[in-house]
Amino acid sequence: MAIVLFGSPGSGKGTQAKLLSQCLGIPHVSTGDMLRERIRAGADLGPAAARMHSGELVRDELVNRLVEERLSQPDAASGFILDGYPRTVAQGEHLNEWLDARCVAEVVVHLKVDYNSIIARLTGRRACPRCGTLYNLSTKPPKVDELCDLDGEKLIIREDDQEEVIRRRLEAYEQQTRPVLDFYRDAGTRLVEVDASSDPPQKVFERICLAINGHDRAQDCR
Ligand SMILES: [Zn+2]
Repeated sequence: MAIVLFGSPGSGKGTQAKLLSQCLGIPHVSTGDMLRERIRAGADLGPAAARMHSGELVRDELVNRLVEERLSQPDAASGFILDGYPRTVAQGEHLNEWLDARCVAEVVVHLKVDYNSIIARLTGRRACPRCGTLYNLSTKPPKVDELCDLDGEKLIIREDDQEEVIRRRLEAYEQQTRPVLDFYRDAGTRLVEVDASSDPPQKVFERICLAINGHDRAQDCR
């Protein structure tokens, strides 16, 4: 089963990908992680690396190649969860050709969130500048207001978690993702939308499982 996972910033996409991976016994393939790994390993990705740092799109061909290599590994033979790919319609077309050629059916899962609740959740985030421990004023507050439990350092709001930054990330996500989701709709790909706004991760996970269950069309294809 090929699962293509979409989720806005703050939708808990990474957590859901992990839960799905454990439950289904198929790898979580995150293009973001793959690219970061390559860069850490000293691979020369040229301008792609620079673009990644500035938050721009990494060139389609490079990502297509990385993903193909990864999906060809033995552990992905019975399925995989794609996270962060496809990010453009061109990448989506490329992936569809690749999957069609292998008779693999895909299901697209879109984790939808209410933006106001995401902003509320994310702006409650605090971080310890000394040890890096993360807190959340509503779900995981420090024992003493605004101070780290471990070292008593005054907590800060990371730049990424500031409201203006979050709004911009959400808008960028919308702009980038909408055409890809439209592409899948037009292509007749099975697309399930799951509300991931406010419920605990386990609840959202159950919802995803329910939505994708019984739709392994790859079986009909064999
Ligand atoms: Zn600390």
